[in-house]
Amino acid sequence: MRLSQVFRQKECVFSIEVFPPKKNGATPESLYPTLEKLAGLSPDYISVTYGAGGGKAGLSTVQIAKHLKQELGVEPLAHLTGINSTREQVAETVQALQDAGVENVLTLRGDICPDAPRSKDFFHASDLATFVKSKGDFYLAGACYPEGHVESENLRQDVENLKYKLDAGVEHLVTQLFFDNARYYRFMNLVRKAGIQAPVQAGVMPIVSARQVQRTVALSSASLPPRFTKMISRYDGDEAALFDAGIDYAIEQLRDLIEGGADGVHLYAMNNPEVARRVYEGIRDLLPEAKA
Ligand code: FAD
Repeated sequence: MRLSQVFRQKECVFSIEVFPPKKNGATPESLYPTLEKLAGLSPDYISVTYGAGGGKAGLSTVQIAKHLKQELGVEPLAHLTGINSTREQVAETVQALQDAGVENVLTLRGDICPDAPRSKDFFHASDLATFVKSKGDFYLAGACYPEGHVESENLRQDVENLKYKLDAGVEHLVTQLFFDNARYYRFMNLVRKAGIQAPVQAGVMPIVSARQVQRTVALSSASLPPRFTKMISRYDGDEAALFDAGIDYAIEQLRDLIEGGADGVHLYAMNNPEVARRVYEGIRDLLPEAKA
């Protein structure tokens, strides 16, 4: 099913993101038990990230998306990046997605990595979106940044630049993670004022461990509201308490977003089905049934 249908049927779409297993030697199959648990939460779709550099990582994305679609009956959204790939490589992945019956693709530029050869074919997500559209009848989604993409001069320009991918065929946007809903509301204001009417899903990541604080929070350029930083310092050294507090923070953030009229919420659950289940339990009463 194309995700356009889901957005027509639901006032607030609920999705979860997974990534192909990254540990040395881990196979896509090792993620299947997790996928089964996530499927039990009835997400409208599950998105599967695409490893930088493509190649083998890309095959894992296709395999996981195929498993979701064919074995678990969950609609997949396969991520795809262009920055390190040639047209031929992307065409191969797109063909594999088509063969697997995957209809929905999140077209991304990918992060610029100084060590990897940069594509001569794809500079921006919009170039990839145009190319994927030319290869088949796909539904396309794209990324957006409530606090501005790191390379953009300012938020207003970044919002204007979203029009390139929308003009290239992208039909809905998913935000980068953020911890301060006020930033998201300000961004949405700019998006709608710029005349962009596409649905925008708010991406939220529950922070549930000290490791995640070091990795994700320290590396992300997301601004941290005082309530969030207080939570991190209050539970420093107490993993169980930080886990519970992180779940509660995400639930509160998501409830506010759903009640605030977000077109959808996207859960960055880091392949942790327990985190996804707890968050889902905390918001399920607000998630709407499909319209008749
Ligand atoms: P673009 O849309 O190309 O934007 C990049 C920059 O260029 C922005 O500053 C933008 O304002 C500007 N810009 C865009 N178009 C133009 C134009 N035509 N002319 C001039 N400037 C322009 N990375 C992965 O490697 N794998 C993943 O699976 C993955 N999934 C993601 C999922 C989500 C929801 C998000 C938010 C990000 C994801 N990323 C992923 C990270 C993403 O690849 C990076 O953030 C990357 O740096 C930008 O990707 P983009 O598609 O937004 O690029």
